Order: sequence, then C-alpha cells, then structure tokens
Amino acid sequence: MNLKEVNTVKDLQTIVSHYKLNGKTIGFVPTMGFLHQGHMSLVQKAKSQSDIVITSIYINPTQFNDLNDFNNYPKDLERDKELLNDNECDYVFIPNQSEIESIPSKSIQLDGLDKVMEGRYRPGHFQGVVEVVYRLFEACKPDIAFFGEKDFQQLMVIQKMVEKLNLPIQIEGVPIVRESNGLAMSSRNVRLSPKAREKAGAIYTALAEYKLKSKQDVTKRLEKIGFELEYLEEYNFNSSKRLFVAGTYEGVRLIDNVEL
Ligand code: AMP
Repeated sequence: MNLKEVNTVKDLQTIVSHYKLNGKTIGFVPTMGFLHQGHMSLVQKAKSQSDIVITSIYINPTQFNDLNDFNNYPKDLERDKELLNDNECDYVFIPNQSEIESIPSKSIQLDGLDKVMEGRYRPGHFQGVVEVVYRLFEACKPDIAFFGEKDFQQLMVIQKMVEKLNLPIQIEGVPIVRESNGLAMSSRNVRLSPKAREKAGAIYTALAEYKLKSKQDVTKRLEKIGFELEYLEEYNFNSSKRLFVAGTYEGVRLIDNVEL
C-alpha cells in the first residue's frame, strides 16, 4: 500500500513542511470517512490539481446536533484506506479528538449564512464545521482544499471563512456524484433499506422537474414517496441560483441540491 497514515498534528506538519520546502503543492480533502465515489471524485480532482493529496477522516462531534446521528455514523476505516490507496491519495490523516482539540480554534462570524436552511434545521452545525475545518487547515496548511457541491451551503460557509480570515487557501467545489437512480451519494445512504434507497432516487427527479412544475407539485411528489420534508428552498449564493432540499426518509436525514 502506497497510502501513508498519519495520526498526529505534529507528524502531519513535519511532512507538509518538507514538501513545501521542496516546492510541492498540497491538496486537501476533509471527510468523515465511510468513503464512496463522491469522496473519490474530490480525491481525483485534488490529484489533478496538486502534487500531494492528503485526505482527513474525522467524525467531528461538534457539528452533530443529534447524538443518535453521531453515534450511528457509519465507519469502516480499512475499506476507506483501500479506496484512498486505489485512488492514489498520498496520505490519510486520522486524528483523535484530543489531537484536533490541541489546535486553538477561532470563532468566525458567518454573516447569517449559518442561520438559513441547514443552519436553521441544525442549530450550531456550521459553527462546528468551521471550527473543525479551521483546525484541519491549521494542521495541514493546504494550498487547495476540495469540498463537494453535495453540501453546497457548507462550501459557501468555508469560502466565507477563508475570506474572513484571509487564509492563503484556494477552495474548490466538486460536482455531486449520484447513484444510478439519481440519489446523491452519501455515507448515510447505507442506513436506508434497499427498497427505500431505490425509491429515494425520486428526490432528484423531483428537483430536476422543479423548473417545469410548481413548488407545490414538487412538495407533493416528495411527500408521496414518504419523504418528510424539512425545507425546499431556492437560494442565491453569489451569482449561482440553486434549489435546496432536506428531509428524512425512513428516519435517515438526506440533503440534495440542483442548479436552477
Ligand atoms: P462527508 O464525509 O460527508 O463530510 O463529506 C466529505 C466531503 O465529500 C464534503 O466536501 C462533501 O460535500 C463531499 N461529498 C460527499 N458526498 C458527495 C457526493 N455525492 N458528491 C460530491 N461530493 C460529495
């Protein structure tokens, strides 16, 4: 296996400074593990845009507002490492909580971006996200960091954080990777029954039809498959207008979005 595992901030910083002294660029992919092709598309993009790719796996307790969700978050580190190795990731950073917390955090004003949509339904979520991503950035000092459009609001929040703190890091968004029925790939999808996982493809179909139908039609269609809708909302980030959806299906929280 060419992939190398690092567990401490000190080791990671030593490795990164060695590469930087040699003029190499660092691409960083933060994840919570239980990796799938969505994560791999971030790794592949990182590989194409930087010399060295570092993926982190850390399930951040402070971004979960539901203890059950945190405790049941799926894990399979061995499989994750195999996937990363197959996709030519160079390093996997797997810190424990005290390693992460050894890095001072910063509080960051998100100008209300953390109060809408995901922020409204998951109070404190984005503060937890920026806190951990800031710490991971401090540990890894990447030149470029990659985030999926699956969590589009998170991508915007991270961009805002980087602007506010004037961090010398380029943030790159990566398009959503979907299962064959259209369902956005997510580590949480394994918690759905096979039947529900198949039917959940209708979430994407409904979003894709939004332009042709009314919001009411789309809501009805989602409710018909038993999707318990939290929000279905148009939102403008910079110049990009998108439609966002979140809700639970068989008790599993799912989110998705499409460009309008
Ligand atoms: P997570 O492990 O869920 O925290 O995700 C880690 C990163 O992978 C985040 O930037 C996500 O937006 C991204 N990601 C997760 N699923 C997908 C997907 N289906 N397509 C593209 N990016 C994804």
